Amino acid sequence: MKDVVVVGAGPAGCSVAKGLADEGYDVVVYEKRQEIGAPKRCGEGLSLSAMDELDLDIPDYCRMQSMNGALVFSPNGDYVRIHSNETVGWIIERKMFDKWMAERAANAGAKVRAKSDVVDLLPDNRGVVVEVEGETKRVESRMVIAADGVESLIARKGGVRGSSQMHLVDSGYQYEMVNLDLKDKHKLELYFGDDVAPRGYVWVFPKGENKANVGIGISGDADKNAKHYLDKFIDSNDRFERASVVEVNSGLIPVGGFLDDMTAENLLAVGDAANQVNPIHGGGIREGIKAGVIASDVVTEALEKGDTTSENLQKYNKRWWKERGKDLKNVESLREVLEDLDDEDLNYLSRKLDGDDLMKFTQGKRLSKLGRLLLKRPKMIKSARKLM
Ligand SMILES: Cc1cc2nc3c(=O)[nH]c(=O)nc-3n(C[C@H](O)[C@H](O)[C@H](O)COP(=O)(O)OP(=O)(O)OC[C@H]3O[C@@H](n4cnc5c(N)ncnc54)[C@H](O)[C@@H]3O)c2cc1C
Repeated sequence: MKDVVVVGAGPAGCSVAKGLADEGYDVVVYEKRQEIGAPKRCGEGLSLSAMDELDLDIPDYCRMQSMNGALVFSPNGDYVRIHSNETVGWIIERKMFDKWMAERAANAGAKVRAKSDVVDLLPDNRGVVVEVEGETKRVESRMVIAADGVESLIARKGGVRGSSQMHLVDSGYQYEMVNLDLKDKHKLELYFGDDVAPRGYVWVFPKGENKANVGIGISGDADKNAKHYLDKFIDSNDRFERASVVEVNSGLIPVGGFLDDMTAENLLAVGDAANQVNPIHGGGIREGIKAGVIASDVVTEALEKGDTTSENLQKYNKRWWKERGKDLKNVESLREVLEDLDDEDLNYLSRKLDGDDLMKFTQGKRLSKLGRLLLKRPKMIKSARKLM
């Protein structure tokens, strides 16, 4: 019998697996794709603060382009420039990064297996049924970690969650493009507006001199699909005329609906499988890895004690809510308020706010300043109060 089966070799699953393998536990990670990390479903942005906090010594071959800020465009074309004299983040290559995360887990002693689709849980979540390259196996374990991403079959089968409501999931679409002019190859470009991206934004994340991930995330219940809005943005912008598309990516992004209880008997969920994503910018790499670190601490203790009941795993919920959930819940409230803003409101805010404010808002901080500004817009008074 294994100690732990981890389902999914994304950043969250590999983070838990490494933590547990470091403690000497017998861990196996099953990944259904034949190549870990490919195809990517990501704009590939990762902040330096996340890398430092999570002790991620990411090798150079995973780092494509350093970022020192962002250009945040309001609907009328005005923009707020966020700038630092130092590098504040990277556009990484997920195909390399996810594999590196899996290698870290494997080098710590976890067994990682690609092309292995987990199709069911064993009774009491004491293991899984997995199809390894077409061969069906029953693998018993003391615990299962559902790190199977936004679709999260295992988290659902394990009873941790139901299906996501459409409204709490954004739909993402992206082209990796080459031969385009970048405004500044060290800055993220973000475009807002009802006509550009309902309840979301278009991004241009530079990946090199003349190369970028050009993508969009919009509400799952928008009138038209994400591809429609992204194509419209690209077609209306001359600088994409000569550009080529070398990769097409799409995927869902949880934007809220945090779970009070992310555990079941002998099972817990991490990363997108537990909706652990920033509801404003859709970043989930940091959240998944952080949750993986918390989960591995709690599971280590549970295995040592020989008590992997949901009751004993509640420490995971407590720690996650204290260290991440509280701030992310504030960010979710902010997202709800932003949904009520029209283009005029956004133009108004972009005149009143600076880059530092925007950074703080995405972390769930300084929201009362936004609340105070919105109080001056009569139709926004009700929404503004939610932020005070
Ligand atoms: C368009 C788009 C752009 C994004 N941009 C960014 C960004 O710029 N920065 C950022 O931080 N985040 C971004 N995100 C979010 C980020 O990609 C995710 O939050 C992150 O990958 C979550 O990590 P995870 O390990 O929880 O899940 P995943 O990375 O999804 O990993 C889950 C893994 O489980 C595997 N799996 C699923 N079911 C099974 C099964 N039954 N058996 C075995 N394996 C299984 C999957 O194949 C997958 O490899 C973006 C998402 C999208 C869709």
